[in-house]
Amino acid sequence: MKYDYDLLVIGAGSGGVRAARIAAGHGKKVAICEADQVGGTCVIRGCVPKKLMVYASQYNKLFKAAKTFGWDIDSRFDWPTLLHNKNAEINRLNGIYLNLLANAGVALIEGHGSFIDPHTVDIAGKSYSAEHILIATGGRPSVPDIPGSEHVITSNEALELPALPESITINGGGYIAVEFAGIFNALGVAVNLVYRGPQILRGFDAEVAAFAQQSFAEAGVQVMTDTEILAVESTASGLLCQTNQGPLASEVVMFATGRQANTDRLNLAAAGIATQANGQVVVDREQRTSVANVFAVGDVCNQDNLTPVAIREGHYLVDRLYAGGQQFPEYDHIPTTVFSQPEIGTCGLTEADARHQYPNIECFTSTFRAMKYAMSEVSEKTFMKIVVNADTDQVLGMHVVGADGGEMIQGFAVALKQGLTKTQLNRTIGIHPTSAEEFVTL
Ligand code: NDP
Repeated sequence: MKYDYDLLVIGAGSGGVRAARIAAGHGKKVAICEADQVGGTCVIRGCVPKKLMVYASQYNKLFKAAKTFGWDIDSRFDWPTLLHNKNAEINRLNGIYLNLLANAGVALIEGHGSFIDPHTVDIAGKSYSAEHILIATGGRPSVPDIPGSEHVITSNEALELPALPESITINGGGYIAVEFAGIFNALGVAVNLVYRGPQILRGFDAEVAAFAQQSFAEAGVQVMTDTEILAVESTASGLLCQTNQGPLASEVVMFATGRQANTDRLNLAAAGIATQANGQVVVDREQRTSVANVFAVGDVCNQDNLTPVAIREGHYLVDRLYAGGQQFPEYDHIPTTVFSQPEIGTCGLTEADARHQYPNIECFTSTFRAMKYAMSEVSEKTFMKIVVNADTDQVLGMHVVGADGGEMIQGFAVALKQGLTKTQLNRTIGIHPTSAEEFVTL
């Protein structure tokens, strides 16, 4: 063989692991390098631990609702227990990933990968060559360079706090900010959610974002819009954020102000691999970088920072490279869920985007109290919205804010992607009593 490997994958996250083991299954000699635990952002410090914490925090509300169903529960929450069990679960998943790689015959090389030339990568002082190289190094939180930024934590540290704080200020109005605001608020921490614009969740349907913001506030989160954190100071009693609206004190300050691609340690220049101004690797439809034998998948090259997107990109790529595959990921109708409390499930166009693209748009909405909470002191409501092209009857977008919103939208997304019409939706019999049935009767 001219090279040590057919495929060398840099980064053992969701996209990299999938590509490596499928390529090995196609009979290729494959290695993957990783400096941390195997599993990447999703398993180690993202989707999985976050959702475990969402589940943990939701018990508070369930215990409240339980009272009206006759349960008298004396509950106490213990953060170290959650942390211990969460870490045990991540270690278990890490073990599963390691087994998947080993069983597929993929060599795991420990260390950071750094390009020497387009076919050669340095890993922990040793060089390895490959015919194809796949960059799957993902991303990490990015914190703006303001005075006192060394005092703030990101989602990485929020998942590992030694003790539950009494108060936290969370900067940002996107996925991570609102998800962690929900977790900490439900666990009894006083939460300030600070957002620089007039309305959190920019990019989501405006009514959905407004309803969600109102719901978070009603659940106890102090939502502060049009507020910019200019500096963070350490004081004897905690941290003090200087904002354009005045000072704001809290024990912990977390920034969830977006993520950046992990490219700075890859020495991409040595291989001549082009990046965008934000550091993301530039790829074409084939996932090919500016260098013909080097590819990239997932957050390191993509705006859609979503695990299933990275997995699909990696899987289809190696199928095309080694098994005559013809498929490409489709980026339309990607359903997503914000695991806030209440949860936001969404697929397709927002009303504003639909109106921008089509002349006649009709929207259908409903607000109600889910049966689960109807008798209880939990005042949380559910909001649903369907965006329809009035000329063709096609459903362009479906949105929900409420319990199990993500589970609902995953199912409806299948139909939406096939061109679902409003008439077809209404011809479907609802499942009674559920919240999802509201979508077919709107
Ligand atoms: P987002 O891009 O979703 O949100 C970033 C937020 O930070 C925005 O509200 C943005 O404001 C604000 N912001 C950016 N820069 C600054 C700044 N300098 N000062 C103050 N505020 C700032 O990023 P996240 O970090 O929340 O998440 C990254 C991505 O990860 C998501 O977009 C999503 O793709 C993925 N993700 C998906 C999850 C899921 O599927 N459940 C969960 C978590 C993450 P503005 O709107 O004004 O730009």
